[in-house]
Amino acid sequence: MAAGGGLNLILLGPPGAGKGTQAKRLEEQHGIAQISTGDMLRSEVAAGSAIGRKAKAIMAAGELVPDEIIIAMLSARIARPDCTSGFILDGFPRTVPQAEALDVMLGEHGLTLSAVIELKVDDAALIERIAGRFTCATCGAGYHDVFKPPKIPGHCDVCGGTAFTRRADDNRETVTARLAAYHRQTAPILPYYAAQERLHSVDGMAGIEDVTAAVERVLDGLGGDVTKK
Ligand code: ADP
Ligand code: ADP
Ligand code: ZN
Repeated sequence: MAAGGGLNLILLGPPGAGKGTQAKRLEEQHGIAQISTGDMLRSEVAAGSAIGRKAKAIMAAGELVPDEIIIAMLSARIARPDCTSGFILDGFPRTVPQAEALDVMLGEHGLTLSAVIELKVDDAALIERIAGRFTCATCGAGYHDVFKPPKIPGHCDVCGGTAFTRRADDNRETVTARLAAYHRQTAPILPYYAAQERLHSVDGMAGIEDVTAAVERVLDGLGGDVTKK
């Protein structure tokens, strides 16, 4: 196994690119923890915690939650024992200061980044993906009205649940703000990781299975012992 314990990945890409979808598949395939800062923030909002109260309006506006809040939240998460066997960061880092803070955190825990995988999708496709996104309210499985409907309409493929939710920020107005935030604040971390020679770009416009295959080819190319379940 690679130094720094396990496969430590970042999935990078604009809102709706397929990060969550691919992270769940990687989690199943490789037995590593998916860490979604968006999911963590939505739990904080639902719980009405101090973080949630600060984040709620910012998320509703499609803007980024301040770095210090996110960095503190992620730093506590990465210290948890399930991360020592590997993790997939989904939605973090989203700014250069977050990327720099992550490098410091990993150093403190003796962990190294295996790869940063960018999912490239153009804006028109993102808007379509976000407009049709919904999830199972019971188990969190992700779906799309057109691209990934449940096999039996109204029933979750994974758990059979019949209640589904749509994110409050998945509307056309907020999407525009989220895409702008991506291009202005998140895209600058691509050269940061390119300079570290860790950046791998994958065509995220392909179908879900084909994107997974492309991601697996990146992992195969990393060498070392990439564990598979
Ligand atoms: P998406 O799946 O569309 O990429 P996320 O679920 O990752 O969106 O994030 C939803 C919202 O949560 C973002 O629009 C932002 O307000 C906030 N958020 C999530 N992760 C971060 C982060 N790393 N830094 C700042 N804000 C974040
Ligand atoms: P992100 O986490 O990057 O915001 P998601 O994984 O939630 O993106 O995907 C956004 C929506 O697009 C979901 O409804 C998902 O089912 C769908 N989707 C994901 N990947 C693809 C793909 N390769 N082709 C078509 N639809 C996709
Ligand atoms: Zn379910």
